Amino acid sequence: MSERNAYLIINAGSSSLKFCVFQGSGTEDLEVVFTGQMSGIGTQQAKFEAKDAHKHVLASTALDQSDRAALLGYLLDWIRSQLGGAKLVAAGHRVVHGGTRFAAPVRVTPQVMAELEAIVPLAPLHQPHNLAAIGALADVYPELPQVACFDTAFHQSQPWQSQVFAIPRELTQEGVRRYGFHGLSYEYIAHRLPQVAPELADARVLVCHLGSGASLCAMAAGRSVDTTMGFTALDGVPMGTRPGTIDPGVLIYLMRQKGYGADEIEKLLYHKSGMLGVSGISNDMRDLEGSEAPEAAEAVELFCHGVAKQGAALAASMGGLDAVVFTAGVGENSTLVRARVTEKLGWLGVRLDPAANRAKATRISAADSRIPVYVIPTDEEQMIARHTLRVLQAEQAAPVLAAAD
Ligand code: ADP
Repeated sequence: MSERNAYLIINAGSSSLKFCVFQGSGTEDLEVVFTGQMSGIGTQQAKFEAKDAHKHVLASTALDQSDRAALLGYLLDWIRSQLGGAKLVAAGHRVVHGGTRFAAPVRVTPQVMAELEAIVPLAPLHQPHNLAAIGALADVYPELPQVACFDTAFHQSQPWQSQVFAIPRELTQEGVRRYGFHGLSYEYIAHRLPQVAPELADARVLVCHLGSGASLCAMAAGRSVDTTMGFTALDGVPMGTRPGTIDPGVLIYLMRQKGYGADEIEKLLYHKSGMLGVSGISNDMRDLEGSEAPEAAEAVELFCHGVAKQGAALAASMGGLDAVVFTAGVGENSTLVRARVTEKLGWLGVRLDPAANRAKATRISAADSRIPVYVIPTDEEQMIARHTLRVLQAEQAAPVLAAAD
């Protein structure tokens, strides 16, 4: 019998850390065995929750430590106690920014950590938390191989026109350019779409990753050609609490006329705008769809308008459009948003089958739609697990941490 290896996948935020454990025997068919999260990191109210693959609760505990390394130690002990005969062989991390340097996942070494630290100014709200988790895990289990997988990497294939702002060249050379995000989700869709629709393997596809953060990707033959997020995850379509594309003159106005400083602008753009700002009710599409308030309907309309308008712009980046894919929380679940967005793209030859849309079918376009439309659930954790496995295979790394250690 082949030995089963386990991979710990970590998505670390400021005060929470989501994790997922995959198992496999060296093939690409990695299966989820546990998922969960640590919340309240850095507070005195840390909590640990874990579920099995069928979403049955396995653990739900308040913890009295708040220190990140101590919590990761607890998590690893818990995972190892649950693994049976499998061996934990590596950890894979979602790291938001790989800068211009990292176009692919990488095994973390002290040199790589130093390079990732240098990129912190490009993503000061997220990168430090991603790196803190890697550092804390290295402190607790220095022998465990760790792999960093980047949200920006998939977009490195873009032509220069998609990557550069029309600003003085020196600033571009310093790194003030468009990077794009949600790359692990788009990469997963790029692998999944040809399985769902083999005839689309070389197609020009508009992928709509619509979650509480939302972006679009112009994907030609499985490679990113353009995307709506740019230097930061603020650009592009309206989101739960972010405005998406906004005239930069608004920010100058706020600074000059209303005395806003960087912190207030940051709060406005990351936390107070988007669906929440427009509706005054919620950032959650479910709440907005369930509300009678005209402001809620306006927020949904603004979201769908932004997705359709910027989707059409991305079609120009690809020189045409052959298919549309919806994914992530809103894209996978909101019948209304899919209907409104595709209606607005009707002039491009997109037509939905309303019954298929309501039924959440994989293909939701009408039989006579010139452009087929698909709903494909994304799985960023699966992508990180596969990358982690591949990086280790490429190095022919041996399992280092036995379950029973
Ligand atoms: P993120 O990973 O960016 O936090 P997700 O991809 O998990 O976001 O998407 C979360 C969002 O999906 C929620 O805020 C909610 O608006 C939306 N969502 C989830 N289920 C539904 C549903 N049934 N109908 C409409 N929107 C939904």
